[in-house]
Amino acid sequence: MKCSFCEHPLVCKACNHSFQPRRGETHQGAYQPDTEVLCPDCQKVLVCKACGFVYGEDQEAERNQ
Ligand SMILES: [Zn+2]
Ligand SMILES: [Zn+2]
Repeated sequence: MKCSFCEHPLVCKACNHSFQPRRGETHQGAYQPDTEVLCPDCQKVLVCKACGFVYGEDQEAERNQ
């Protein structure tokens, strides 16, 4: 999968594993602004190694039910 912002292959900055979403889950596009993406390998918020974009800011304080 490519990073939505820098067009490089999306690699987790934390563990250096390439991010590959499960087939069928992200066919609409890589990223939706309100969706946090976790690395399946290290379970951390995914950060693009190439451009540093964070796929899900730390917004827990703002989360409303
Ligand atoms: Zn990772
Ligand atoms: Zn990127």
